[in-house]
Amino acid sequence: MALEKPDPAHLAAVDFTVPRRAWRDLPVEFRKGTYNYATPRRHVEALGLPNPREWQPHDADWKLPPDWKRIILDGMQDRLDRYRSFRLFMDICVRCGACADKCHFYLGSGDPRNTPVLRAELLRSVYRRYFTAAGRMFGPLAGARDLTEDVLKEWFYYFYQCTECRRCSVFCPYGIDTAEITMIGRELLSLVGCTIQWVVEPAANCYRTGNHLGIQPHGFKDSLAFAAGELEELTGIRIDIPIDRKGAEVLLVVPSADYFGTPHYYTLLGYLMVLHEAGVDYTFSAFASEGGNFGLFASHELMKRLNAKIYAEARRLGVKWILGGECGHMWRVVHQYMGTMNAPADFLEVPVSPVTGTRFDHAASTKMVHVCEFTADLIAHGRLRLDRSRNDHWNVTFHDSCNPARGMGLYEEPRAILRGVLNHFHEMAEDTIRERTLCCGSGAGLGTDENVEMRMRGGRPRAMAVNDVRTRHGVNCLACICAIDKATLPPLLEYWVPGVEVAGVHELVGNALVMAGERPRTTDLRGEPLGGTGAAHA
Ligand code: SF4
Ligand code: SF4
Repeated sequence: MALEKPDPAHLAAVDFTVPRRAWRDLPVEFRKGTYNYATPRRHVEALGLPNPREWQPHDADWKLPPDWKRIILDGMQDRLDRYRSFRLFMDICVRCGACADKCHFYLGSGDPRNTPVLRAELLRSVYRRYFTAAGRMFGPLAGARDLTEDVLKEWFYYFYQCTECRRCSVFCPYGIDTAEITMIGRELLSLVGCTIQWVVEPAANCYRTGNHLGIQPHGFKDSLAFAAGELEELTGIRIDIPIDRKGAEVLLVVPSADYFGTPHYYTLLGYLMVLHEAGVDYTFSAFASEGGNFGLFASHELMKRLNAKIYAEARRLGVKWILGGECGHMWRVVHQYMGTMNAPADFLEVPVSPVTGTRFDHAASTKMVHVCEFTADLIAHGRLRLDRSRNDHWNVTFHDSCNPARGMGLYEEPRAILRGVLNHFHEMAEDTIRERTLCCGSGAGLGTDENVEMRMRGGRPRAMAVNDVRTRHGVNCLACICAIDKATLPPLLEYWVPGVEVAGVHELVGNALVMAGERPRTTDLRGEPLGGTGAAHA
C-alpha cells in the first residue's frame, strides 16, 4: 500500500549535525517510508535463489539459515578471490572524505552512514575483522568488527539506500567505486535470502515472460499493434512493427516500460517513427522483450543470465547487430560487464548504419548501439526532416541519467538530438550534469511506494537543480533517456518542483519529425496541441 508523502518542508530541513554516539553504536531503525519490502517466497523460488520464505525487514526474526555467518564469510572470500576491484576497494580508502558530500542520499538525509565512505565502511569493517591480520589481532582498534545480525540488518538498510549511481566515484582520488561495493554487499545479502521485492520480482518476471513487467507475448504484441494504430491516427501513415522476424538486419530491444508505461510510451512512438522514416530493416523479439536488467541490482550471476537472453535472441533471429532503446541499467550492463560476461558476440557484425554508412566501432565487442547514437548520426547526416517549432510548447532541460552518463559516457548524442529537434533548451548547473549528474534517487530497485520518504530525500538535489532552471528560464520539461527516470522523476518533480513534465528524448524527436506523406498534424505525441507551425507541413 502506498504511504502518504511527508511534508516537503519537513524533508527540506535536513539535519547535518554529527551524532554524538559513534556510528557503530547506533542501531538501525526500519522506519516506514525509508526501506523496501522483502521478496516474497514465490519470486525467490522462481529464480532458484537461497532461503525462500515470507519475512519483512521490520521483523525481529529474519529467519536466516543456521549457518548464515559462514555463508556470508565464505561468499566474501570467494568474491575477494574473484574480483580484484573488490579487494582493492576494501584496502585502499584513505578516508579523505572527498566523497562524503557527493551522495544524494547523504545530502537528502544528513545520515552519516549515507556518506559513501561510511557506507563502504559497513562492509570494510567486517572485511578487516576476518580477512586482515591487523583486524584479527586488534579488532576495534584496527577498525574491525564482528559480523552479527545487527550488522547484517545495517547492510540491508544502507545497501538498499544506495542507487549504485557512481557519482561518488567521480570525486574519489583513488577511483573507489562505492556502487561496486554496494553490489557486493547486496550479493552477499542475497546468499542468505535477504533481497527486496522490487529487484527480484522483475527479474523473476523476466524468466517467466521475457520482461520485467511480466507481460505475456500476446500482451506485448497487442501493445505494439496499439502503438501502430495510434501513429496512424496521428500521422495517417500505417507502419509495420515486426516481431520475431528472422533475417532482419537489426534486433530492437527496449525497456518494457516503453510499451506499457507513460511517459515512456511516447518514447516508443518516437523510435517507431524514426525507424520507419529511415527505412531500417528491424525486428522486435517477444522473448527478449526487455532491455533492462534488474539482475544488476541483485547479483553478477543474475545480471549475466538476463543479459544472455538478448544475445540468444539475436542469434536465433539471425540479425547483424542490436539497437538498444532509452534505458539506464541496460547500458551499464552492456558497456561495463558484457565484455567479460557474455562477449565477444562474434556471431554478430560490427554495427553499421544502413542509412548513413557510419560504422559504430566502439560497439565492436558488444555489437549493440544506443538509439541516441543512431538517431544523432541520422540528424548529423541530414537524414531526418525536422521541424523544431513543433516542440515550442516545451522549454527543456536534460537530465543525464546516471548509467548512460557515468556508465558509458553518453553525453553529447542526446544533446545533439535535442538541439536538432527543439528551440528552447537550457542546461542545469555544471556540477549537476554530465559525469557529475545527480541521481533521481530511485534507481537500482528503490523506486517503490513503501520507500517514498527516502526517494524524495535522495531525489531532492536533482529536483533543486531543475528548480533552478525553472526559476531562471521557465523550464517546463525535463528530458531523459532512462526508463527508471521516466517512472520516478514525475512523482519527484510533482513533489519538489510542480509544473515540470518528464519526456524521453525520442518523444521530442517524434514531435519534430516530419514524415513523408503525413497528414496535417495538430497535436504532439501526447495529444496536446503542437507548439509551432507543425500543421503547416502537410
Ligand atoms: S574519496 Fe575515496 S579515498 Fe576518500 S574517503 Fe571517499 S572512498 Fe575513501
Ligand atoms: S553510488 Fe551513488 S548512491 Fe551509492 S554511495 Fe555513491 S553517490 Fe551514493
